[in-house]
Amino acid sequence: MPELPEVEGVVRELAPAVEGKTVKKVEFSKTVYESCAAGKQCIVKNLEPSFLEEAMQDMFIKKVTRRSKYIYFEVEKNHQPFLFVNHLGMTGAWFVVYSLNEIHEEKFRKHVHAVFTLDSGELLVFSDIRRFGEMRLLTTLEDHPPLLEMAPEPFDEEACTYFLEKCKLPKYQSKPIKEVIMDGQVISGCGNIYATEALFKMGIHPARKVSRISKERKIQLFETIRDILRESIENGGSTISDYRNINGEAGGMQHRLKMYGKKQCSACGSNTKSMTIGGRTSVYCPQCQH
Ligand SMILES: [Zn+2]
Repeated sequence: MPELPEVEGVVRELAPAVEGKTVKKVEFSKTVYESCAAGKQCIVKNLEPSFLEEAMQDMFIKKVTRRSKYIYFEVEKNHQPFLFVNHLGMTGAWFVVYSLNEIHEEKFRKHVHAVFTLDSGELLVFSDIRRFGEMRLLTTLEDHPPLLEMAPEPFDEEACTYFLEKCKLPKYQSKPIKEVIMDGQVISGCGNIYATEALFKMGIHPARKVSRISKERKIQLFETIRDILRESIENGGSTISDYRNINGEAGGMQHRLKMYGKKQCSACGSNTKSMTIGGRTSVYCPQCQH
């Protein structure tokens, strides 16, 4: 699943490729239409796909940015601003090409669910193998309240204080630390991969209760998460399964991971263990993490 660094990688490439261009036409796949008719709203959320196709026509793309794991397309039509919000879900990927044949890997080519024709003649293509991706057209952030509840960006100055304050809330005190650092209302953009790595680096057991970690250790943990996210951005993100940048390239961070997906601890050689925390598989070293 793409996490913050992977989404940042997509945005850094998408922005120069599409900013300043205008959408001339949008076409959603048959699957998107059929799921909407069946009440499932695959990919296109809270709108009829046909409505979104029409609404996006002649939409000018001003700016593409990232907020947590969301991609924000700041768009404008007839001088009215809108926000087109995309979440990559598990396997969403964007491509900017002149023809679908330019998408080299068949699995992405076979699962194209949205094609935006730009005034440059290029196609902005959204492919999603498992179809957990999301697209919404909003007039303001209030249209989709979860966007207002996200923690600050981890690189923002106030993010660590925000994290410490959240940890004090009764609902988080008795929870396992791993579940809490993966909660987007506590820290933005720290998913399973980076939570696993940060806890290993800090020697903290993923199931340790929040209340049993000192303030100093919490600050160090926050800084470790932030540093790992930054390191991953610099290395093009982690390609665990189906993450690709807009040129279809994989990232390099997966080669730097020390615990996620490992059978043996890279520090002491012990066999790693795994347990389910907050519905996610958590790998840890029983010797190094307490
Ligand atoms: Zn170990």
